[in-house]
Amino acid sequence: MKYVSTRGEATPMSFSEILLEGLAPDGGLYLPASYPPIDAATLTRWRALPYAEIAFEILSRYIDDIPSSDLRRLVTTTYTPAVFGTPEITPLTALEPGILLQGLSNGPTLAFKDMAMQLLGALFEYELGRRATVLNVLGATSGDTGSAAEHALRGRRGIAVFMLSPHGRMSPVQQAQMYTLPDPNINNLAVEGVFDDCQDIVKAVSADLDFKRRWHIGTVNSINWARLVAQVVYYVVGYLRATADDPAPGREVSFAVPSGNFGNICAGHVARMMGLPIRRLVLATNENDVLDEFVRTGTYRVRGGAETHATSSPSMDISKASNLERFVFDLLGRDATRTRSLFGDQLHRHGRFALTPAEHAGIHRHGFVSGRSTHADRITTIRQTAHCCGVIIDTHTADGLTVARDHLEPGIPMIVLETAAAAKFPDTITEALGRPPEPPAALRDIENLPHRVTVIPGDVQLVKDHLTRHGLR
Ligand SMILES: *Cc1c(COP(=O)(O)O)cnc(C)c1O
Repeated sequence: MKYVSTRGEATPMSFSEILLEGLAPDGGLYLPASYPPIDAATLTRWRALPYAEIAFEILSRYIDDIPSSDLRRLVTTTYTPAVFGTPEITPLTALEPGILLQGLSNGPTLAFKDMAMQLLGALFEYELGRRATVLNVLGATSGDTGSAAEHALRGRRGIAVFMLSPHGRMSPVQQAQMYTLPDPNINNLAVEGVFDDCQDIVKAVSADLDFKRRWHIGTVNSINWARLVAQVVYYVVGYLRATADDPAPGREVSFAVPSGNFGNICAGHVARMMGLPIRRLVLATNENDVLDEFVRTGTYRVRGGAETHATSSPSMDISKASNLERFVFDLLGRDATRTRSLFGDQLHRHGRFALTPAEHAGIHRHGFVSGRSTHADRITTIRQTAHCCGVIIDTHTADGLTVARDHLEPGIPMIVLETAAAAKFPDTITEALGRPPEPPAALRDIENLPHRVTVIPGDVQLVKDHLTRHGLR
């Protein structure tokens, strides 16, 4: 399997070659040259398999330059009950009639990013070992991504992590999840500034190509293809488990996905392109509705900082959606020239682009519908779900469920992806239910551990100095 860039001007590469890379050299995102099909007979065969085996089956269709036995070992040691809390890995829970919740938040940091990041950690360690080299992962986080990355890379050979976070601006849970890690290869840098300052420093360090090469600087951001393909697995597993009672070939389900960077739902799109019978991909946003607007109108308009709201579903507070280009490339029949014009010239010059009416109609043909949810909706939905079903959902999942209800169709199961555990957002849960959620053992245990973090002024040179003192070489 070769990987091509959405902008059409990069040399096709193998999986291992793009694993440690971010953007393609032409500024585009990598996608497989074609989607390997899964037919009804294959799905029937997979019904009896556990999560890790299905993961291996799917990943081996995309990864042909890691020996099968090695890939199987990496996958089966990643998707275990010990790491993900349950033998099902992503258990389904029935809510109201026609609606199921698929739990993606049972990993070490209690958010869905663990689903892909844990595998990415294993793949990185494997590939670096094969090449006998090292990687210093540099990242900026406002919460979930950084802690998922640190928990996936802690203790891994050949990898050190330098994670910048805005000093004093993350929630106590988020700080504890990152700062209490005892592993010497994890370096937390609390920058005196806001998240954007952290991100600017990462960009500035990465832009110094000489420094970047000398210090083997890499990232684990959401545009990484390996993360995306790992997420395809739970769509397939969700489909198989939701249709277990009536496994007629071609039976359809819909998925509702709380969305920010379009990473999660893009994996749903890939699963659908492979032939998984997905009827609707219901894209749910919060008040930051860039993507809802795109699906409804065909216009993609990047927001400025002042227009980006801080909401009670903070992991969806985005101003632009970094994975959207992958879907648009497919939507345009893989026309790289048109994709380059939209995401290159037009977005740079005008901060927006508009699809033609015919192109816009294609969004719906690809199964997408959308909606937005507000703080008041989240509170109502969290309360209703606790009362009807005895299930306490988090704020992001509440956005998904709120929008899912508007798109229910008779006879089509709707699977709402649960992207975080309620315990991570005690303030909003208390507002909705009058009491905080029960903290899982993982959170209770870390509350009183000492913090390992270096507070540092928002200065590029100081971060570089820190890297040269503590980085691997
Ligand atoms: C990252 C995140 C999202 C958004 O996912 P995207 O892939 O960026 O669309 C939703 N919910 C939670 C809890 C997250 O951490």
